[in-house]
Amino acid sequence: MNRRQFVHAAAGAVAFARIPKLTAATAKRFDLIVKGGRVIDPSRKFDAIADVAIAQGRIAAVEANIAGDAAETIDAKGKLVVPGLIDIHTHAARVKDGPAMCLADGVTGLIDAGSQGADHISDTIAIAKSAPQICRVLINIGRAGILAEGDTMDINRADVGAARAAIAANREMIAGIKARLSRDVAGPNDYEVLRRAQEVASAFKIPVMIHMGQTVSPLSKLFPLLKSGDIVTHMFAPPPNSIIDDSGHILPEVLAGRRRGVRFDLGNGRTGHLRWDIAEQVLKAGFLPDTFSTDWTPEARTAQVIDFPNVMSKFLMLGMPMDQVIACATVNAARDFPVFRNHGTLKIGAPADIAVLELREGSFEFVDNYENKRMGRERLFPYATVLGGKRVAGRPSAAAAF
Ligand SMILES: [Zn+2]
Repeated sequence: MNRRQFVHAAAGAVAFARIPKLTAATAKRFDLIVKGGRVIDPSRKFDAIADVAIAQGRIAAVEANIAGDAAETIDAKGKLVVPGLIDIHTHAARVKDGPAMCLADGVTGLIDAGSQGADHISDTIAIAKSAPQICRVLINIGRAGILAEGDTMDINRADVGAARAAIAANREMIAGIKARLSRDVAGPNDYEVLRRAQEVASAFKIPVMIHMGQTVSPLSKLFPLLKSGDIVTHMFAPPPNSIIDDSGHILPEVLAGRRRGVRFDLGNGRTGHLRWDIAEQVLKAGFLPDTFSTDWTPEARTAQVIDFPNVMSKFLMLGMPMDQVIACATVNAARDFPVFRNHGTLKIGAPADIAVLELREGSFEFVDNYENKRMGRERLFPYATVLGGKRVAGRPSAAAAF
């Protein structure tokens, strides 16, 4: 052990006293070393070829050429080693194996964003509780959850009392409230639905995530209802009622929202949320997303979304630098919900959640929600996932499928 490594190991031991002293000569110094990859950790502005060593489920050292043995090694040469991905808008808790499928894609923390409302929230909570990684749910303000005829087309479904009772009974698992506001979901009720969502939120001091895009009401009417810490998903939704006007200016109410701490999220999805020309204009206006998210469903695994690294790759194609792309899927996402505190980072002592990604060069087709195709020269693929210091089984034949 050289001096720098010793200092790192010592710092880790002080910060986490449960790590036993490494006295026995026969003991492995580390449980796992992810070796020789390009480590990108935007939380520390770190970008270099390095090893990541793990002990007792936590990051023990991030250094070039870490000496000493480990029980297991992942050869990450030629790969990217980044904090475990955090996906704040999924519908993974709709299906029993949803969280595990996302985990294989590198997602070590996720939110089910409003699949269910008060009537059936116990369904998503049961799946979230059994997830291998941290999984929390947002409760849909529409008490019946996502409905084909519109969650809150009948305003009586936006039931403040029912939502409050459900949250009070499941405070640990419900991280916020989801309000879907599009015209085919809420119709002309959008403003009242959001007002009621905030009425519920105020009792618990939790965020509201709004699903914007194609609302009946203009954003200039809706956005003043958003408070600091609330999240706007589907930020690149095309008109009517985009965040950008016809002349390429971000709406003043949107800029004011960001200034007071409203967060802006991609929410890739499959219908009505992402169109390349809008994304380009918004990025060109300098209005960058805080977070990426997939709006994952089992059906989206084969269309448009595919996996979180694929969604991230779309923004490499649109010209965002790699460190910002990684930040949107890690440290920025961790800031949205207290449950992800200390996640989304590879700092010493943090829980050892890691996504090893492969950046391939070639010709890759990306599709927006309107069948518009774009070709990119790079695409990130899931390669290996480490959760709490342990390597998890990969997505079967992920590489072979492409
Ligand atoms: Zn969604």
